[in-house]
Amino acid sequence: MASAASSLDALIDALRRLPGVGVKSAQRMAYHLMQHDRDGAMLLSRALGEAASHVRHCERCNTYTEAPVCSVCLDPQRDARLLCVVETPADQAALERTGSFRGLYFVLMGKLSPLDGVGLRDIGLPRLIERATDGVVEEVIVATNFTAEGEATAHVIGDALRPRGVRVTRLARGVPVGSELEYVDLGTIAHALMDRR
Ligand code: ZN
Repeated sequence: MASAASSLDALIDALRRLPGVGVKSAQRMAYHLMQHDRDGAMLLSRALGEAASHVRHCERCNTYTEAPVCSVCLDPQRDARLLCVVETPADQAALERTGSFRGLYFVLMGKLSPLDGVGLRDIGLPRLIERATDGVVEEVIVATNFTAEGEATAHVIGDALRPRGVRVTRLARGVPVGSELEYVDLGTIAHALMDRR
């Protein structure tokens, strides 16, 4: 009996590690899975195990992939002269959905946030500089979000790359101030991409 109770407690504790999940929600999820959806619980368990052991970062663009280099970076149809810098894989997916960008990406996996202790190295700036100065990239399009942190990040990237002879542009306004790319409609992103400065 003791072990049954403790494995349920362990499940609840594990679920609480998810962002925005408190003890009440974690209990609700755990009870739901045990009461109504054991198959779902097994599926979740396998999917988590597989993802946690196989997902890694692309050596070139830093996005999530299961191979050393992701399929976008390997696609010979992409224009390697254009490099678009985004904060997250979700932002990259938003740009991909517009179908209007044929270049390559660099995914920062975050944004500068000095108050939270997120610095230049944490957002992969040294790797971005190396990537952008490979001799093939001609233009870096900074598509960080139009939030205070995203703007600060864009500024730092511009300051780091321009002296190295890389043309740096920013997505045009039109994307609402304070907004995260992930939640902006596709037409707006496509226009902001075309009108970049
Ligand atoms: Zn890649």
